[in-house]
Amino acid sequence: MTETTFAHLDLDERILRALTDVGYEKPTPIQEQSIPKLLEGRDLLGIAQTGTGKTAAFSLPLLQLLADSQRKPKHPSALILAPTRELAIQIFDELKLFGKNMRIRSSCIFGGVGANPQIKLLREGVDIVVATPGRLLDLANQKHIVLDNVSMLVLDEADRLLDMGFIRDVKKIVNMTPRRRQSLLFSATMPKEVVQFAKEILRDPLRVDVSPKQVTVSKIEQRVVMVNNLHKQQALEHILHGETVTRAIVFTRTKHGANKVAKKLMQAGIGADAIHGNKSQNARQRALASFKKGEIWVLVATDIAARGIDIDGVSHVVNQELPHEPESYVHRIGRTGRAGASGVAWSLVDPSERSRLRAIERLIKFEPEQVDLGIKYVTPEAPAGGESRGGSGGGGNRGNAGGRRGGGNRGGGGNRGGGSGGNSGGRSRRRSGGGNSGSGNTGGNSGNRAA
Ligand code: AMP
Repeated sequence: MTETTFAHLDLDERILRALTDVGYEKPTPIQEQSIPKLLEGRDLLGIAQTGTGKTAAFSLPLLQLLADSQRKPKHPSALILAPTRELAIQIFDELKLFGKNMRIRSSCIFGGVGANPQIKLLREGVDIVVATPGRLLDLANQKHIVLDNVSMLVLDEADRLLDMGFIRDVKKIVNMTPRRRQSLLFSATMPKEVVQFAKEILRDPLRVDVSPKQVTVSKIEQRVVMVNNLHKQQALEHILHGETVTRAIVFTRTKHGANKVAKKLMQAGIGADAIHGNKSQNARQRALASFKKGEIWVLVATDIAARGIDIDGVSHVVNQELPHEPESYVHRIGRTGRAGASGVAWSLVDPSERSRLRAIERLIKFEPEQVDLGIKYVTPEAPAGGESRGGSGGGGNRGNAGGRRGGGNRGGGGNRGGGSGGNSGGRSRRRSGGGNSGSGNTGGNSGNRAA
């Protein structure tokens, strides 16, 4: 829109040089809107997801303000909280890049690794701490870190921080910092809890909203299936058996829903796993790694857990349930069609979700095509009688052994659904064999991670 450059944003020469070195030519909208105000000391509420340039938006002014201030490295001056180790490391790396012409020390604190090296660094003194809440709180409780000199506090991906059950830790940490401080909160979505939390910690914040208002959907084919909740699993399996599906992310609204769907997919012989905020970081990473390697080809995720996942080659997104916030639909379907590839986004819509569908259509200014899958739905029985409930067409097992994780060898040799009724017929508890004659080469160790 404008020809604003970084030099227009009151950034000093040390930072401008670093930006030239990393190859940033012009600021993104969130950078343009927030950097000058942050340099003036304003609090900020940034509604932005990964990919908007939010890290530089807060890191650049933070570095500049710190460089110009009196610091006592034994008591860090800036604290950045992030929900996951990966994000913390990413922020830490960017700080190093942008701050390379300044004498500012930063450190990255996260759990899952030994604390001693982190304690040692803290003892030597740091100006900026990037941390995940759990480990930071441990270290603070043990007095390895003192937060009484924090003049800048950044909460990144606040919705994920809260979703992952960090709210109490985060509040405790915030309370350890001085009241007089500059606070920044970034969140891709603004559920009630985040709105409330932002009110508690921010003072007269500048609000910058760069959430996607309209979607670049041109490369994503969107389809809607009107289907009763009871039949959604059957519809999902049918869709996943489609010829063109190579890798899919299925979205549910709840963590419980994600577990349930993933479990049923596995029972149907589809290599799937769930990721959500209740899973440990290691479990999430394992699932992601399997997905990337192709050991499983379906990831069932909640909105927040899926954010920040950067995986190419997702051919299909399926909305098992529509999200409450129409914006989340945009985030979800953007998981496919990345890097210029085309993608397909399916939404399974129960009649009770019609109003949500309308809200989405208003947002994207488009009505996705309604598709009839042409299958005969079979109403599942109560959970106890789980044997052979399907039956509308036989044997569409997609060629992966019915083993649990790792069994997701998408072997090309499996029978990929015989005809329109051929999905997941007979959803026996565990498919035996299931035609794993696959030519795929990734999932050969099927079932070895079975519970
Ligand atoms: P973020 O939203 O902070 O995760 O940033 C997303 C990606 O955009 C990162 O890979 C950054 O390196 C990159 N990026 C951020 N700001 C700019 C910019 N002004 N010009 C070019 N790339 C940028």
